[in-house]
Amino acid sequence: MTSFEELNLIGPLMRALKTEGYEVPTPIQERAIPYILQGSDILGCAQTGTGKTAAFALPILQNLWHANSAGARPRTLRTLVLTPTRELCIQIAESFAAYGRHTGLRHAAIYGGVSQKPQTDALRAGVDILIATPGRLLDLMSQRLVSLQAVTSFVLDEADRMLDMGFINDVRKVIAKMPRERQTLFFSATMPAEIRKLADDILTEPVPIAVTPVSSAVDTVEQRIYHVAKADKKALLHHVLKDTSIDAALVFTRTKHGADKVARDLEKAGIRAEAIHGNKSQGARQRALGNFKARKTRVLVATDIASRGIDVEGLSHVINFELPNEPETYVHRIGRTGRAGLSGIALSFCDVEERPYLTDITKLLARPIAAVEEHPYRLEVGAHVPVPAAKAVKRPGASGSRPPQRSNNANRGRRRYR
Ligand code: AMP
Repeated sequence: MTSFEELNLIGPLMRALKTEGYEVPTPIQERAIPYILQGSDILGCAQTGTGKTAAFALPILQNLWHANSAGARPRTLRTLVLTPTRELCIQIAESFAAYGRHTGLRHAAIYGGVSQKPQTDALRAGVDILIATPGRLLDLMSQRLVSLQAVTSFVLDEADRMLDMGFINDVRKVIAKMPRERQTLFFSATMPAEIRKLADDILTEPVPIAVTPVSSAVDTVEQRIYHVAKADKKALLHHVLKDTSIDAALVFTRTKHGADKVARDLEKAGIRAEAIHGNKSQGARQRALGNFKARKTRVLVATDIASRGIDVEGLSHVINFELPNEPETYVHRIGRTGRAGLSGIALSFCDVEERPYLTDITKLLARPIAAVEEHPYRLEVGAHVPVPAAKAVKRPGASGSRPPQRSNNANRGRRRYR
């Protein structure tokens, strides 16, 4: 295994890595850093949780540091990182701050939903690195508050997410304002045709780097399925959270309304919970995330888009209150725990309507997810409707010899999964 020393990182970065407690590079860091230091373009197929941010931030900081030592004008915007969500933007900026703390290089994060004043103040003071979401960046560019004329390296992060969120034209507009002669690092977890085309358009002889194919990215996360009727999910969540060893759980719902509702129900049951989704102001989202990170709230309920980039150190549990209809989203969700080799636990509640989603997920993972056999709200896998036990009839094709039924009180509290 390569060490950070073998990657020839400069002293100021090595000191920062020591503070961060990083001992060895992750596979994407090991593979991408040497090429980025050389100035190559990269086509990276990797998702968050792989150490992707440091894989591009460290060599970018090093290249800028060398350029400054060679007489380049400091505080000139030379690196642009485009990212789809505000949370990810803030998080990447925090990574640059952490890794670059001894380099003297300056960065700023610009994203929408908040006043532009502090952002434009930071820009006026001069930055070497800008991390931005496309909408706010275009806005500030049209006000002539940002110029991309001197950009020498460009990172496009989560390109597929940009497409999903409808930002791809904005991304193209931003790219058109940068010098053609530059280094481009392109990251996307998946490669739909439009993303492949964009990559072809903007990359020059890129080095392809694919790490942790989707299935192995989740090897460190212990996964379990709870088969449950939709109407029992709320009670099941309370039941699961009785386990006091769960000190922090990120709960996923499909809708914003659902997120609010779950958070409200938990609060009513005396469990500290907050919701985070796109309808909340940026301030409210940051506050909720801050409370969760500080363990002031035990449960953070999130929708997929709002959760992009949420990185909570030591997060032990992810709970899918609802399964996503895209299997890749499942992988993204459970990747919030088990970060960078730590173990984590992902519990998923699956009702009858969600079973096709579960099939897609297991296909993608190429292995089944174990079901929790005994819990008070257990729904037999063969059951298509929750038939009361007394009226249950054996359906042809139902699994095993038992009739479809919901577990009754007799099963309650016998054993619970931990
Ligand atoms: P990312 O994929 O960039 O979102 O990073 C995922 C998490 O891994 C973040 O919490 C990083 O701080 C952490 N991380 C990144 N690189 C390393 C490393 N070499 N050793 C330990 N942790 C790391």
